[in-house]
Amino acid sequence: MKILNGNEVSKAIKLEIKQKVDALKSAGKKTPHLAAILVGEDGASMTYVAAKERDCTEVGFNSTVLRFGSDISEEKLLEEVEKINQNKDIDGLIVQLPLPKHINEKKITEAISYKKDVDGFHPMNVGMMFKGLRTFLPATPYGIIKLLDHYSIETSGKHCVVIGRSDIVGKPMSALMLQKNCTVTVCHSKTQNLTDFTKNADIIIAALGIPLFLKADMIKEGAVIIDVGITRVADETSKNGFRLKGDVDYENVAPKCSYITPVPGGVGPMTRVGLLLNTLDAIELYQKD
Ligand code: NAD
Repeated sequence: MKILNGNEVSKAIKLEIKQKVDALKSAGKKTPHLAAILVGEDGASMTYVAAKERDCTEVGFNSTVLRFGSDISEEKLLEEVEKINQNKDIDGLIVQLPLPKHINEKKITEAISYKKDVDGFHPMNVGMMFKGLRTFLPATPYGIIKLLDHYSIETSGKHCVVIGRSDIVGKPMSALMLQKNCTVTVCHSKTQNLTDFTKNADIIIAALGIPLFLKADMIKEGAVIIDVGITRVADETSKNGFRLKGDVDYENVAPKCSYITPVPGGVGPMTRVGLLLNTLDAIELYQKD
């Protein structure tokens, strides 16, 4: 069994991004600039945005965080998004979710110009991704593809089971694995006899958000296991009072599989790299417009 080390691979990719940014700078070209909108004071959201800012600094991007109180109106937030759409200096915009209940998240994320939608959530980008056209890819599936590529994991002709069908992970993941010539099965909360599928899978991507869901007796010997899940599980022995648990029963599954991602240190850091790669791509795709 080999660990797919997202920490190490993301470090190597960040270094490559930094070298490309340095080259852009020395050629007198534009420095990629990522903007993030943060509404309210949700602890997890603040942590995620701070991590994204640190990542930008590390690779030499410019970054801007626009902070608004949780009482901002939907109309005002739409105006702010439009200002960034029009701002030629900003290449990518993300809106940290969740937004307060009085604001329609779909309306806000779809108001972002598809040319700056580095989260890859805009219907235009989703459509382009499904058609296999070059565009921004949702960060988590993008990071997972990079991880599989880094370890040269064979996908062609393999049976891949994706557990979960969310718009940000399961659905785009299944489209990208199809493009990598896998035979793809998507399982979800209404799937019956899920183990019948997972037991025959060469690659399993678990993205359902139920800690330790995938057990050793649900997989076949030698399968590749990608664990997307991150759930905070209360644990008094930890200094934060919780531990992060994946969707895979790592301890028992690891000895049976060929490759596995740990939680933390697997898919999480690769997701952050996915966003950076999209922001760099924004320069190549749309800077000349
Ligand atoms: P979601 O809640 O939007 O979707 C969960 C999916 O799981 C649904 O499609 C549902 O049908 C399916 N599901 C639920 N119960 C099931 C069951 N018993 N059997 C089979 N399928 C079932 O979640 P999401 O946003 O896709 O995230 C999934 C998990 O991945 C969460 O733990 C989330 O925190 C984590 N996540 C991690 C990263 C990362 O960077 N590591 C990024 C995004 C999400």
